Amino acid sequence: MEHNSSNFIKNIMIADLESGKHKNIITRFPPEPNGYLHIGHAKSIITNFGLADEFNGKTNLRFDDTNPLKEDQEFVDSIKEDVKWLGYEWEELRFASDYFEEMYERAVLLIKKGKAYVDDLTQDEIREYRGTLTEPGKESPYRNRSVEENLNLFERMRGGEFENGSKVLRAKIDMSSPNLNMRDPVIYRISHATHHNTGDKWCIYPMYAFAHPLEDAIEDVTHSICTTEFEDQRPLYNWVVEECEMESKPQQIEFGRLNITNTVMSKRKLKQLVDEGFVDGWDDPRMPTISGLRRKGFTPGAIREFVIATGISKGSGAVDEAMLDHFVREDLKLTAPRTMGILNPLKVVITNYPEDQVEMLDAEINPENPEMGMRQIPFSREIYIEQDDFMEDPPKKYFRLFPGNEVRLKNAYFIKCNEVIKDENGQVIEIHCTYDPETKSGTGFTGRKVKGTLHWVDAKNAIPAEFRLYEPLILDSELEAEGEDEGSGNKTFLDYVNPNSLEIVHGFIEPNMKGSKPQDKFQFFRHGYFNIDPKHSTDEKLVFNRIVSLKSSFKL
Ligand code: ATP
Ligand code: MG
Ligand code: MG
Repeated sequence: MEHNSSNFIKNIMIADLESGKHKNIITRFPPEPNGYLHIGHAKSIITNFGLADEFNGKTNLRFDDTNPLKEDQEFVDSIKEDVKWLGYEWEELRFASDYFEEMYERAVLLIKKGKAYVDDLTQDEIREYRGTLTEPGKESPYRNRSVEENLNLFERMRGGEFENGSKVLRAKIDMSSPNLNMRDPVIYRISHATHHNTGDKWCIYPMYAFAHPLEDAIEDVTHSICTTEFEDQRPLYNWVVEECEMESKPQQIEFGRLNITNTVMSKRKLKQLVDEGFVDGWDDPRMPTISGLRRKGFTPGAIREFVIATGISKGSGAVDEAMLDHFVREDLKLTAPRTMGILNPLKVVITNYPEDQVEMLDAEINPENPEMGMRQIPFSREIYIEQDDFMEDPPKKYFRLFPGNEVRLKNAYFIKCNEVIKDENGQVIEIHCTYDPETKSGTGFTGRKVKGTLHWVDAKNAIPAEFRLYEPLILDSELEAEGEDEGSGNKTFLDYVNPNSLEIVHGFIEPNMKGSKPQDKFQFFRHGYFNIDPKHSTDEKLVFNRIVSLKSSFKL
């Protein structure tokens, strides 16, 4: 994949290759399997795989599975599927948990060097002793245990003798460091929990800040790309690599997270939306997950182009959600077949059209890509148009159908409205029109002009369908930018869930769409791009997710 623009990470890689520091580039994408991937992860994937590809390097997919309580095989499987779907092939598939034995040995090495100790303080006490930015930390009374005692206790921690939280292993660094991460960070904790990969083999687990640099070094990762919230961890990262005497010395490089307006992008929050039933799963089309975007109808190409356009920098301002829509429109423009679908049907009877006649009309499959050829659409005496395309008492400048007015039916004829049929409540149930055979589309008729062009489907042959129209799930663009759980006041992000984010509409589609498959994409005339939903569609009834409407105010 091409990164056309240069960026600071690429420049570091170029310099490292030129200076001979590295012979080739090795990166990794390191998700924790505690949820489904979201569009922010796509940025990390595209950055890691994309940069390595540019230098003919390699990228590992590594599951950072050091927290047994939150991790699950379901998440491992979905992450693999999503990375592949985005179009990337990993060099090696690794699990941090495969390195538990080596990590344990490196921790023992630290103890032997007097660089780690077993601490009996509680979690709260450790936090209290750590101090603050303005106040130095206090040393734990257990800090100066002998190497022998520490080795003995750490082995017994592994052996399962102690309860959760009763002891931890801490790196012995500097309790007065201005960087709080360097004030004797905890590097192992006790957790009697079954791990998705190692089962009950372990009851002590390494902390992220200790595990991650070791994982990178074990895999000979040259550039460990992460997001800016890890900037303060970099000294500890380097300390671990150094003091554990790792042969490889990976370099941590941070870039700004992707944030998008009206979008929450933290697995924890997304999980809450799933668990509390706001959506119908991680792959709900309103979710910013890769699987949700796929189900909505986004393409890997559109996601890639979007991510590349957002650029790589240290900053992390939110990009406009409309930018994502822009790229999917661009991607589908030339490939999605055009078709007509009626969302809220209103019957039109063409009174001068012969009762039993059906004629097939020709229409282009995609006027922007003539190579896609032609399709045939049946036309007969009864058709459906949209309820919104008729008004009995129209305002000025309404150019659609109203009594006495003539409009064009897309790919068919001009029709003129003569009569409005209502039920006993005064509801319009049917419109009676006449058509003019002279005006057939494609014959070059120029006798007179009409201002409105309506889409329609043949009532006898049309297939019933369901359309799902989406609005943003979260309605506060400030929320994610604040980066915090809480919105203004005492509200949480759940208070910003949009109650109208899904509208289900019933209607009809052209009969030539019979046989369409889940994930097939179309452009419905005047309504936008739609994808056939893989979860709710059946052979009897196709369900369409609107990917995006046609118009956009967004300009690159
Ligand atoms: P979340 O907070 O959404 O759970 P995370 O960072 O905890 O995300 P990980 O599974 O640890 O999730 O992420 C794997 C990689 O993806 C990490 O390197 C992380 O920095 C990166 N990543 C996650 N979110 C974003 C984002 N919004 N923009 C860019 N990179 C991201
Ligand atoms: Mg993480
Ligand atoms: Mg997280």
